[in-house]
Amino acid sequence: MLCIRGIVLPEREERVFLIDGGVLRAGGPPGGLSGRDVEMVVDGGWLLPGLVDVHTHPGTTDPRVPFDEGMLRRQLTEHRDAGVLAVRTPGTARRMPGWVTDDPELPRVTSAGRWLATPGRFIPGFGRDVSEAELVRAAVEEATASSGWCKVIGDWAADEPALPLPLLTSVVEAVHAAGGKVAVHCQTAEGTRNAVLAGADSLEHGMHLDPALLDRMAARGTAFVPTLSVFAAGMDRMRAREPGVRRDLWLAGWDGMLDNVRAAHEAGVTVLAGTDSFPCGTVAGEMEWLVRAGLPAHAALGAASWTARAWLGLPGLVDGAPADLVAYATDPTEDPAVLNHPSRIVLRGRVVR
Ligand SMILES: [Zn+2]
Repeated sequence: MLCIRGIVLPEREERVFLIDGGVLRAGGPPGGLSGRDVEMVVDGGWLLPGLVDVHTHPGTTDPRVPFDEGMLRRQLTEHRDAGVLAVRTPGTARRMPGWVTDDPELPRVTSAGRWLATPGRFIPGFGRDVSEAELVRAAVEEATASSGWCKVIGDWAADEPALPLPLLTSVVEAVHAAGGKVAVHCQTAEGTRNAVLAGADSLEHGMHLDPALLDRMAARGTAFVPTLSVFAAGMDRMRAREPGVRRDLWLAGWDGMLDNVRAAHEAGVTVLAGTDSFPCGTVAGEMEWLVRAGLPAHAALGAASWTARAWLGLPGLVDGAPADLVAYATDPTEDPAVLNHPSRIVLRGRVVR
């Protein structure tokens, strides 16, 4: 019988669990922790219900290369081996194949189907290209065919019009009526404002977010996934470009990002960690960016773990929860670098390492 003992985050409380058929059972074994049939797979240290990356696109790294199921498996395994036990894929080139949810070796995947791109927005042929007239129906289809989410490209080029607000509002209303949720790619002032006003469930990137909209986001429960890692990685390349309207708008947007992330958290908006970048399994780096933006370490770690799990409908480390956990020798809120060195990873009750 496998047994776990450690200080559980976010509660900061020592707990003992047995693993019973992939499920956590609170309390130790009847004969005590030294019983003959008890294997202590974690005995001390700090326990998280796994890390979470809510913005990752495993399966395709380059629009010119077709979606590859082998790559999908490898990249999901990279997440798992870094202690990322749940991911959300806001748009992929193909819908997730069924084996992804059935494979006990892989993290739990919440998918949003294929990227929904209207003409002039996004890379042609990479996602699902639809006319504006077809968008509402297609969004309901993608949400229904995946894990309840769909992903709409709400804007693209910095100097081109965003998806019109009335259309995006119709998408959100139709998908909500079907019981689904809408993630919106938004990187321009107009696109980001439209995503908030349309009542999207999550802003993906959310560049040029007007702080005046934060109270509205908090009241409606609109999450903010700022993907700081991928912007930071592209900053030098963007600065090196010839000045021009697209480059200058991008740089102006990046300049406001960290302040906006901190202000969003302070306004009560759910800020979540998503990497949008490769290699997979680097969400600990996104957590560090959230700290750099001004989130308290506890909140930043929650954004990459328990807060994101709750947002995806997954429980933390409590009796009856799935036995998904990662153990660390020391408190990762004291030193986020410890996230790169998990001492134990357990997924669906199985010891991964
Ligand atoms: Zn993305």
